[in-house]
Amino acid sequence: MATLELDNVYRRFGAVTALDGVTLEVGDGELCVVVGPSGCGKSTLLRVVAGLEKLDSGSVRIDGQDVTRSEPRERDVAFVFQSYALYPHLTVRENLAFPLRVRGVPRAEREGRVREAAELLAITELLERRPGQLSGGQRQRVAMGRAVVRRPRLFLFDEPLSNLDARLRGRMRVELIELHRRLRTTSLYVTHDQAEAMTLGQKLVVLRDGCIHQVGTPRAIYERPADPFVAGFIGSPPMNFLEGTVRSGSGGRLLDWAGPAVPAPEWVPEGPALLGLRPEDLFPGTGPLAMRVRVVEDLGGDRFVYGEASGVPLVYRAEPAQHVPSPEEQISLAVRPGKEHWFVRGRRLKPGG
Ligand code: ATP
Repeated sequence: MATLELDNVYRRFGAVTALDGVTLEVGDGELCVVVGPSGCGKSTLLRVVAGLEKLDSGSVRIDGQDVTRSEPRERDVAFVFQSYALYPHLTVRENLAFPLRVRGVPRAEREGRVREAAELLAITELLERRPGQLSGGQRQRVAMGRAVVRRPRLFLFDEPLSNLDARLRGRMRVELIELHRRLRTTSLYVTHDQAEAMTLGQKLVVLRDGCIHQVGTPRAIYERPADPFVAGFIGSPPMNFLEGTVRSGSGGRLLDWAGPAVPAPEWVPEGPALLGLRPEDLFPGTGPLAMRVRVVEDLGGDRFVYGEASGVPLVYRAEPAQHVPSPEEQISLAVRPGKEHWFVRGRRLKPGG
């Protein structure tokens, strides 16, 4: 087990800055999830930690030791990829033992560690099969087993579940959380899937264009997104946004936007502002937003009502007992008090300033 520290890491490819001054600490035994859209630098970040990619400047420390210029094999980290990278001609047992064989681990210890990893990942009955005789989920478990047998200081996961179907992905997420709880190996996990990031991460890092936008627990990031990008990226369906200008009216502050003005608190300064509203914080009632319903998405447990107000797309979550409007119906929406997210000049405003 180990800590991981990245300090002001830069990596450029020609005109592209894949990592733009990344500073990040992952605590001993922590599972840290880096989430961001395609091309934001996630894989580059993992490759820099593994030593597969050189950095232009900055440093990487594992357990306090500067490994910036160390070779990958000196770093003692294990990578799990989305492509399982198993040897097709070897059995599961041989695949699991392979990383130990190349490191010269004695046979008896190898067998013990393979047995232990197989039990941990519930693949004991698959040990004599070859990868071609396994399902996608089983292959991914073997790939994880191959990282586990090594007992590395650090696990690096590069979207390991993205090849699996949605149901299996959900199950594997739970297994991964349990695996981490048992092994407590410090882990860095990257994904573009915000739902996966929310369920897996103890610590969540939101990355965009090589820059960290926010670090925190999934809950804290969901409830207090630092900027409009994070607010729109984390949460599904995404947050609604009303863009406009705050001014002082006779009855207090108001946000002028495409529709009828909506009230704004006194601590939002006059001038351009963005109001963010989560779908679960809007409900039908006497309120400032006149919405024309377009589509109702019934997911069984949750129902989301999509429409638009004065040309701005809106979505809200209908409570189980609530009447669900029909397409083309015109309804008015109210906002749960205190649930507004205000952004000015690209930053979140805190109540009081
Ligand atoms: P994805 O989710 O699509 O895998 P990512 O977040 O992992 O994306 P990276 O693969 O780290 O993103 O790439 C970050 C940026 O750096 C991208 O713009 C990519 O095109 C660029 N890049 C990565 N590796 C190289 C390379 N070897 N040469 C040139 N550009 C590269």
